[in-house]
Amino acid sequence: MNPEARAPEVIVIGGGPAGSTAANLLAQAGVEVLLIEKETFPRFHIGESLLPCGLPIYGRLGVDLRAQHLHKRGAEFIDEVSGRSAIYDFADALPGGSGFAYQVERAAFDHELLQAAECAGARVRQGERVTACQMDAHAVTVTTDQGRYAARYVIDATGQDAMFCKENRTREPLLGFGRAAAFCHFEGLHPDRREELCHTGNIKVLLLDQGWSWLIPLRRGALSVGLVSRKAPLRTELLDELTASSPTIAHLTRGAAERTSTRIIRNFSFRNTRPYGSRWVCIGDAGCFLDPVFSSGVSLAVLGGERMADLLVPALAQGREGEAGLMEPLYAQMSRAYEIVGALIHSFYHTRIVDNLFFAPRPDPALRAGLISLLAGDVWRDDNPFLDLLLRSKRRSGGLNFQAES
Ligand SMILES: Cc1cc2nc3c(=O)[nH]c(=O)nc-3n(C[C@H](O)[C@H](O)[C@H](O)COP(=O)(O)OP(=O)(O)OC[C@H]3O[C@@H](n4cnc5c(N)ncnc54)[C@H](O)[C@@H]3O)c2cc1C
Repeated sequence: MNPEARAPEVIVIGGGPAGSTAANLLAQAGVEVLLIEKETFPRFHIGESLLPCGLPIYGRLGVDLRAQHLHKRGAEFIDEVSGRSAIYDFADALPGGSGFAYQVERAAFDHELLQAAECAGARVRQGERVTACQMDAHAVTVTTDQGRYAARYVIDATGQDAMFCKENRTREPLLGFGRAAAFCHFEGLHPDRREELCHTGNIKVLLLDQGWSWLIPLRRGALSVGLVSRKAPLRTELLDELTASSPTIAHLTRGAAERTSTRIIRNFSFRNTRPYGSRWVCIGDAGCFLDPVFSSGVSLAVLGGERMADLLVPALAQGREGEAGLMEPLYAQMSRAYEIVGALIHSFYHTRIVDNLFFAPRPDPALRAGLISLLAGDVWRDDNPFLDLLLRSKRRSGGLNFQAES
């Protein structure tokens, strides 16, 4: 530890998109922030497709995504069995959104966000793991594998590790969603395939019997391929079988120079039933993570990090950071997002929405625009006719709780 360093007012645990956003905005406001990250960046992370709803925040963080990442127009849903497909372009959403997003290589993207936090004035310690955290009425004490720090407030942004959630035993699995994912990268795509993919930058979602598959093009000519299954356990061979049998994947990866080994992640869909308290809050995946089918994770993580910082800055100035209900407005806002995106995911898995709306030959234009707004992550507006329909049907099928049946 550097003895010269000033004592932090706020400690952020985890330097993913949520933690870096929070640390950046707090530091910009003059707060002494210490961010502790167990890995050394750049490091691999899954979750490469962004949504338009998060884009305005990157400007606030001082991060320009245009240079390094791939422009993404929207999403294409494909049913290879019936031969149906439908393209949803973010530009066709209800007026007011960004109209596009990016596909990002997470190693580089997360590193850029972390460096931007450091540039804003946050102190960053990488390669240091937080092992314990103690809160009392006046302060928090954070213990790591390298030392101990005191602060006025602590933010858990540990992603799927969900540190406080595990300690407090407040992890509630979302059982009706995806159970496990297997994924890999195809590197060095044939230049023609690369051009074909980069033309729109769309994510392709293949509909499968027990789940779905993502195909995400990356700027340097790679394709991220993943399989999400609602069945557990998931064998790595399932991804091999899919890549061998899918005409879309075979077409796009023909002539690729290399395929990376398969990684698996399990039990990622959960919510934290107690995400904040006196002197602490959980943000990003540490607060809640839904199924990745609509690519909402990173965008909701940065939005949550931003909203949290905007609440914490004035509270610190007024000495109110010990109030147990300080982050209630954050979770009022984020719960709406989780509930709506959760309802859409529930419909995707458990109703005929894909047949009746996604692939409808002549969908109602207002409903279509409303659906695209939700696919863009624009969930806080009150003038979306598709949202009314979605919530009405969710109420009929058992209230607004987004937990689905097992
Ligand atoms: C299969 C799958 C596919 C996905 N696809 C997408 C997608 O296409 N688009 C999308 O937007 N989202 C996607 N996501 C979700 C996305 O990856 C997450 O929502 C996002 O990374 C959340 O950001 P975060 O900052 O909360 O957590 P993370 O990005 O996971 O960051 C948490 C950080 O905390 C650090 N950390 C953990 N514990 C400690 C500790 N004890 N001490 C110090 N540091 C610690 C970790 O090393 C990590 O760097 C996907 C998720 C899955 C599972």
